[in-house]
Amino acid sequence: MPLPADLHMHTPLCRHAVGEPVDYARHAVQIGLTEIGFSDHAPMPRDDFDDWRMLDRQLDEYVAQVRLAQKAFPQLTIRLALEVDFLPGYEDWIRQLAARQPWDYLIGSVHYVGDLWDIDNPAKLSRWAQSDAFEVWSSYFERLTLAAESKLFDIIGHCDLPKKFGIRPAQDCTPLYEEFLNAAAQSGCAIELNTAGLRKNCQEIYPGRDILELAHRKNVPITFGSDAHAPEEVGMNFAEAVALARSVGYRECRRLVQRQHESVSF
Ligand SMILES: [Zn+2]
Ligand SMILES: [Zn+2]
Repeated sequence: MPLPADLHMHTPLCRHAVGEPVDYARHAVQIGLTEIGFSDHAPMPRDDFDDWRMLDRQLDEYVAQVRLAQKAFPQLTIRLALEVDFLPGYEDWIRQLAARQPWDYLIGSVHYVGDLWDIDNPAKLSRWAQSDAFEVWSSYFERLTLAAESKLFDIIGHCDLPKKFGIRPAQDCTPLYEEFLNAAAQSGCAIELNTAGLRKNCQEIYPGRDILELAHRKNVPITFGSDAHAPEEVGMNFAEAVALARSVGYRECRRLVQRQHESVSF
């Protein structure tokens, strides 16, 4: 069985990734992947929102670079997508983004808790020390639930991102997971197994086994993503992600084309 598609990777337009799309595609072919998808950090309405995403005027350039990779590697299926930040109040902006290009899918991610704290930003690690971990996790999952309910996204990204730095609340978070996964099941969006967590302090795939078991019980579909920010990260630890998914009972993942989905075995 070939490895599943890697549907989450970035480009240098986001200002914190290296290697051009053709380099990511070349690596994908080298390790035997048959399908990948680019999902770089989408612009925000204001380019000064933060400094880790493409600018609004770069959207066409992004698409052109993905198209170049498609032409250079015709043996590889390459999807065109975005990783979009979900913050309440940005729904119209996200709908506009969705209409600007023929995206194969949109990954909806929550990085911001409140308007200003991107909880995965290493430059803001000190904020964690000043915060109650359970409050952060609660706000995060509340927002993630809204993202799932919004029906704006095909996939919800790295759904337990707050564990990135290894800081975890003592409280049982199962009710937060349940609420989010019920929303995902209801709206029909998938969650991704994102192997980037293995490269962070938490040293765990996003999401962890507990959430994935719940997701399987609720029939929430899955996709796979490396969240590569460098060509050699494409497909990284996919054997491990496949083993985790299979161990909780998954045998199929979702394939996305022009925002339509189908199931494929892995
Ligand atoms: Zn990134
Ligand atoms: Zn992300």
